[in-house]
Amino acid sequence: MTESMDQLQPMPTDWQRALAVVAHPDDLEYGCAAAVADWTDGGREVVYLLATRGEAGIDTLAPAECASVREAEQRASAAVVGVSTVEFLDHRDGVVEYGPDLRRDIAAAIRRHRPELVITLNHRDIWGQGPGGLWNTPDHRAVGRATLDAAGDAGNRWIFPELISEQGLEPWNGVRWVAVAGSSTPTHAADARPGLERSVKSLMEHRAYIEALTDEDCETYARGFLTRNAEQTGARFGGRPAVAFEVFPR
Ligand SMILES: [Zn+2]
Repeated sequence: MTESMDQLQPMPTDWQRALAVVAHPDDLEYGCAAAVADWTDGGREVVYLLATRGEAGIDTLAPAECASVREAEQRASAAVVGVSTVEFLDHRDGVVEYGPDLRRDIAAAIRRHRPELVITLNHRDIWGQGPGGLWNTPDHRAVGRATLDAAGDAGNRWIFPELISEQGLEPWNGVRWVAVAGSSTPTHAADARPGLERSVKSLMEHRAYIEALTDEDCETYARGFLTRNAEQTGARFGGRPAVAFEVFPR
């Protein structure tokens, strides 16, 4: 592969509204939030949609209690990067099922918010490039795939006609791109520098989760992870620290 082919393209900028759809609280904070901060600075609207409340994510905290802790952490994380609308679909953490129910829920949100850009997280089996890649989790695969599919479902009045008859949600066929964060085969990138500091603060809002995950100081952990990843991606983005996406145009 030549060097120019190996470089990531800049993310599209001719859009006004984005909807980010992920499985768990913290999924967007492990990288994406730096891009989100820059987008909201520019006057764009970004909405977060979470399939679960991440209630199975902390070993020492039972789900009933965990759900409200993680919901509050997610709302605080979103606020740091200029996102004030955070919605939860209440699928069950850990056993999210890919299928028509999930696609319908996401398509409904796409119709409500009418985004041009939809963001999701790695829908593939593996993180990184194999061999040596890490197995992805079932929730990420299910939500990522359902989101890619729902971008089309949202525009077709006959796939989920109950969205019109029961909820009055008319088709929205205006999604122009679905951008997958954390993909092992990225095509595009967003400059992470303007939003990097806020992305660290945003990830740090998941304090209960991070404190259960690592003995490392919360800020050291968040800053280390996000800076390292942004710099690695930057090697394919003219040396600028960046957030990578695999973009599927529609
Ligand atoms: Zn996750």
